[in-house]
Amino acid sequence: MSPKLPISLITCRIRNVVGGIIDIIFPSRCIICGVFLNDSPSPPFCTTCLSGIHHISSPQCTRCGIPFPDSHGENHLCGECISTEQPFSIARALGKYEGTLLTAIHRFKYGRKISAGTALGRMMAQRTCRSHDFEEFSLIIPVPLHIKRLRERGFNQSVILAREIARAYNIPLNLSSLERKVDTKQQTKLKKTERGQNVRGAFTVTKPGPIEGKKILLIDDVFTTGSTVRECARMLIRNGAKEVAALTVARAIHHNQ
Ligand SMILES: [Zn+2]
Ligand SMILES: [Zn+2]
Repeated sequence: MSPKLPISLITCRIRNVVGGIIDIIFPSRCIICGVFLNDSPSPPFCTTCLSGIHHISSPQCTRCGIPFPDSHGENHLCGECISTEQPFSIARALGKYEGTLLTAIHRFKYGRKISAGTALGRMMAQRTCRSHDFEEFSLIIPVPLHIKRLRERGFNQSVILAREIARAYNIPLNLSSLERKVDTKQQTKLKKTERGQNVRGAFTVTKPGPIEGKKILLIDDVFTTGSTVRECARMLIRNGAKEVAALTVARAIHHNQ
């Protein structure tokens, strides 16, 4: 007679066996190229696609994180961050908006591949940039979507990313203080100057209480010109946040600064 096992242990073993069978019948595939993931260190990406993530290295702007074309020298402020005071203290990204990250973000946002989003969120939490000391933040806020866009897409991509970081560091996630009141035009269709005007006044802080005096980590999928992150940070600071730092999956690189 077999010894009695606690019910939780039995269900855990059943789950392992079922999971193993599912893996044999439907082995996981890389979400970018579709090859079978046998022993990838970072599923759902295969080793080849993982190497297609282009991380941003120094020298880069100490504030907005843009890399400088000349690969020599030290980090310093870029022209834009010297001439314009940024409402965020620092902005960093997991990597450049190209290659694997570009494809992964598209699969996630437009192909509704949520597993791509959770994987990207976990990667942001793990490695990103040594300049973000996650433990220092007392609140995480994802860039909100307008209710109309949220209904169309069915999820807010920034919330899925932010949840993974909040979970990894046990930092509270705030989804109610910052709201997107204006359904702005899609930023991707606009020029840089238009992007700033487009999001101006689009966000409001409806519940300032939870953000007062807080050091906030703002999460978004892509930093293109920084208009969205800048506007959110501006509103959070105006309503009492102590500091706002931004972290995105990807950073578009445009060397016109
Ligand atoms: Zn692949
Ligand atoms: Zn800069």
